[in-house]
Amino acid sequence: MDCLFCKIIAGEIPAERLYEDEDCVIIRDIEPQAPTHVLVLPRKHIDSLDKAAPADDRLLGKLLLAAADLARREGSADAGYRVVVNTNADGGQTVFHLHVHLLSGRPFIFPPG
Ligand code: 5GP
Ligand code: ZN
Repeated sequence: MDCLFCKIIAGEIPAERLYEDEDCVIIRDIEPQAPTHVLVLPRKHIDSLDKAAPADDRLLGKLLLAAADLARREGSADAGYRVVVNTNADGGQTVFHLHVHLLSGRPFIFPPG
């Protein structure tokens, strides 16, 4: 499958890896939108949140917990952070391998643009 994030997970394309376990890999975003901007990638290829199945419930929970753990370790948890899952065209998704953005280090407005 020709998927950028599958290739990053497999180590075929370089990325700054901050964390990994049996379910996910966390990398730094190549075009950061905040002082800290990382992506939590499930090792399993799922096109988008729209394609996640009930059987993925534990995996989806792990992605959020991995984001929260990293925010805590990076020292941004108390100040706060933004977690985003862009989904399909109107959601602004550009890479069709489900991922969770974790952004921190500045305040964020709501709703996003
Ligand atoms: P999306 O728009 O699908 O929600 O998010 C995709 C994210 O992947 C974007 O924030 C973009 O900057 C990031 N990205 C795209 N290509 C690469 C890459 O080759 N390496 C890394 N580390 N991030 C990438
Ligand atoms: Zn993939």
